[in-house]
Amino acid sequence: RTKVADELFGVPKGVYVCFFTEMWERFSFYGMKALLLLFLIQHHKFGDKIGLDVLGAYGGLVYCIPVIGGLLADRYLGMRRAVIFGGLLLVLGHAGMAIEGSEATVVNGVVTRDEGALRFFYVSLALIIMGVGFLKPNISTIVGKLYADNDPRRDSGFSLFYAGINLGALFASIICGYLGQTLGWSYGFGAAGIGMLLGLLQFLWGQKYLHGHAESPNTQSLRERVLGIPREALIYLTSFIGLVPIALLLYAVANQRFAIGGEISLAKVLMIAVMVAVLAWYLWFIATRCTPVQRQQMIALMALIAMTLVFFTLYEQTYGSWVTFTDRMLTKDLVPSLVQAGTGEIRMTGSFMEQLTTFFVHAPWSIASLLLAPLAFMVSAQVSDRNPHSKLPIMLFGGASVLMIVFLLRDVLTLPQTAGSLTFLGALFIILLAPVFTGLWGWLDKRNLNPSKPVKASLGLLFAGLSFVPLIYAANSAGASGELASVWLLALAYLILEAGEMCLSPVGLSAVTQLSVPTVVSLMMGTWFLATAFSEMLAAQFGKIAALDIPDGQAVNMAEAGYKYVELFTLMLWIGVGCAIVALLLAPALR
Ligand code: GLN
Repeated sequence: RTKVADELFGVPKGVYVCFFTEMWERFSFYGMKALLLLFLIQHHKFGDKIGLDVLGAYGGLVYCIPVIGGLLADRYLGMRRAVIFGGLLLVLGHAGMAIEGSEATVVNGVVTRDEGALRFFYVSLALIIMGVGFLKPNISTIVGKLYADNDPRRDSGFSLFYAGINLGALFASIICGYLGQTLGWSYGFGAAGIGMLLGLLQFLWGQKYLHGHAESPNTQSLRERVLGIPREALIYLTSFIGLVPIALLLYAVANQRFAIGGEISLAKVLMIAVMVAVLAWYLWFIATRCTPVQRQQMIALMALIAMTLVFFTLYEQTYGSWVTFTDRMLTKDLVPSLVQAGTGEIRMTGSFMEQLTTFFVHAPWSIASLLLAPLAFMVSAQVSDRNPHSKLPIMLFGGASVLMIVFLLRDVLTLPQTAGSLTFLGALFIILLAPVFTGLWGWLDKRNLNPSKPVKASLGLLFAGLSFVPLIYAANSAGASGELASVWLLALAYLILEAGEMCLSPVGLSAVTQLSVPTVVSLMMGTWFLATAFSEMLAAQFGKIAALDIPDGQAVNMAEAGYKYVELFTLMLWIGVGCAIVALLLAPALR
């Protein structure tokens, strides 16, 4: 489908547009996520349990709405419009998050919170949830659409796209995670918002390179009037109205309203209802709307999605229990220049101006390089539009990439770390491992040893389980000695986990666009993310095993904390290993 003139270095230009849009989107998403739990616990003083509940409800909803965003794009909007609308909502949401309000006060155990600021907070989260719902599944399907059905380059297109995701996540942790915990929460959240704004502008500029592959299936129907309003406007309007129940739900979770009993709440019941509805739709669809071959493909896809659910349940501990664990029980001295507080809260020392200076001495390079790569692409694309044989694009793009790597390493090696910013380790290993795995699969392929997709997915689960081993060791030793354990154990855990993610996630994204019946591909992409929605919720529930009740201003009881984290991490280990064995046994049938 794509003409040579629309490619840059063998990749359709539209893929780069998606790459950079998603890079910025994930920058804002993960930047905010790196801070969210700590913000709830340390700023609004919700405590571990409610903090995890809000994180779980947010994560659940944010990966749930893509089903609707995908469906609306498939049937009415087309992906391009959905991405722009989602981007706008995201910019608004991240801007709203920058209003942090005043820190909660605790007097005789009674917590007083800034309820006004919290109202903004719930609405902002709702905007982000809705925005991701429209943007994330659709930007991913556009990548698939830019390749012809049997184009062998599709998998590598998705590997590239996945690198974009993690490049965004990497810079996000370093910039937003760091800023939020040192200068102040609103700086971290605000930086996330600026990132998303740049992403949106870049997409608006680059949409010409999608060449109609992301348009509405029926533009006529968009203009049709329903209830007196054009359908397109009605969709946008309804989405805005939909923000109200989402914000209320988050409010209810944070204030423990509508708790039906024990750990069962309205939010969880709703999520389970959605899951049942999607499963019912899915069964109906494969029973009545598929040819026999399509049916087999869709069943295989659903099995892959089920494995993803387990994988991300383990993976999402990284933004929950791993963050609090790092904050409480690990040294942060990945680099010698570190300013380190004891257990509990990590703050940079010094006045506001000194902290600001520290940041600008160290991190403008990250910011600069984040701007550099998309700019290099924009110029390169224009140059090659005029002269497809020009050597200038490769020089520009290559130069920008090299500078980016140098700048990034400089920041990683010199910037002090916090529990929030250390989430960068995950993204870093993904990016480092991506070429290793591409090479490995290629090498195995030549020898006819390349494992099938189901086997790769099982390996993903196995690695996810094993990643908890170093953390069990860390929790044990910190608990026993009362001293902080080494942060390098966290780095090792991330390395193993990300090897797992490489086996499962990019492979899965590509499989969705390949195995799904074409008319419902965005919806299946939504379902792929829906699996993560449940993972997020489950992860938060499991995370509560290690929830601590730390009275304000008091230090962590290391022995108690160590014991609880060991319990949680051991359970995760066995879930991962157990499910990997089951999946491996099923693999031959799925193939
Ligand atoms: N890290 C990936 C992303 O942000 C994985 C998301 C998922 O499927 N849970 O896109």
